[in-house]
Amino acid sequence: MKITLTENKKKKPDFAKLGFGKYMSDHMLVMDYADGKWGEPEIVPYDTFKIDPATQILHYGQGLFEGLKAYKTADGKITLFRPRDNILRMNKGADRLCMPKLDVDKILSALYELVKTDADWIPTTEGTSLYIRPAMFCTDVFLGVKVGATYRFFIAVCPVGAYYANGLKPTKIFIEDFYVRSSIGGTGDIKCLGNYAASLIGQEKAHNLGCDQALWLDAADKKYIEEVGSMNIFFVIGDTVVTPALSGSILPGITRNSALQILRKDGYKAEERKISVDELLEAHRSGTLKEIFGTGTAAVISPVGEFIYKDKSYTVGDGSMGKITEYLYDKLTGIQTGKLKDEYNWVVNISK
Ligand SMILES: *Cc1c(COP(=O)(O)O)cnc(C)c1O
Repeated sequence: MKITLTENKKKKPDFAKLGFGKYMSDHMLVMDYADGKWGEPEIVPYDTFKIDPATQILHYGQGLFEGLKAYKTADGKITLFRPRDNILRMNKGADRLCMPKLDVDKILSALYELVKTDADWIPTTEGTSLYIRPAMFCTDVFLGVKVGATYRFFIAVCPVGAYYANGLKPTKIFIEDFYVRSSIGGTGDIKCLGNYAASLIGQEKAHNLGCDQALWLDAADKKYIEEVGSMNIFFVIGDTVVTPALSGSILPGITRNSALQILRKDGYKAEERKISVDELLEAHRSGTLKEIFGTGTAAVISPVGEFIYKDKSYTVGDGSMGKITEYLYDKLTGIQTGKLKDEYNWVVNISK
């Protein structure tokens, strides 16, 4: 694989004050598609792309992204969490958006090479990691809606701290009951660029009410709970953990799947099914709603202490992080960072 190293290494940010998604590393990976096939992936110095104003992606949005993390363990190994699942999910998105599929093994080796090239960008303090952003978009220069013939795939990486500035402090969510994020048959189950543009208004409404995120309802009835804009959602009702089933309009989160596997293996009752706002309000009223938490690569597990629905605010339990939430956070981050044994074969060691 061709690797061109930078001659101007950047000054590293203070790894204690990273925030999320702000500092890009020294290198990136690029690979272009033309004449019906992908070219070879290359690692090059991190740089801007030069884009013609008539490039398809700027107008019609044929594009996808992924998100995963790399860690440096206490004994110096470089590890990734379930990276193959991200590339497989990207291929599902490519099918839906009529984009060319990736060679999974080839992309994984190229991704490992990039992470190793920028290994000095992997932070090691508690709660930090190297966030990896694979993405692909149409590069045809043409005004007109049609399936493209040329594409660019790239991977950028950046060291990150906690996704939410307040760390593991319980978040507040706003149940959006007018706008919808996605519908069955749409693109809500893939990481398609436009989904996030459509969800910004919910996030703005949430922020204006002092909430961190919007929780979306199903498009047909605005009755059933779907997910948060970048996280799947779980409820502990009585002794059962419930998360909305993958209906086709929800993103199939890898963290969601990992949380379900851990819960089931460790003897918790975990259900994937429809859950309505009415059921949630009734569980709150009767005192059986114990915990709410979100799952996603960026925040891993995020406790929810309060929610707002139709101008009324509801506190979850006593408003602090619940037991199962904390258990899952410790277990998942423990496995990811190599502190706990990985009984699932999720962690890939790339430092050999
Ligand atoms: C990425 C994402 C998630 C979380 O998926 P993970 O694989 O757990 O990171 C959940 N919902 C949406 C809409 C997402 O884009």
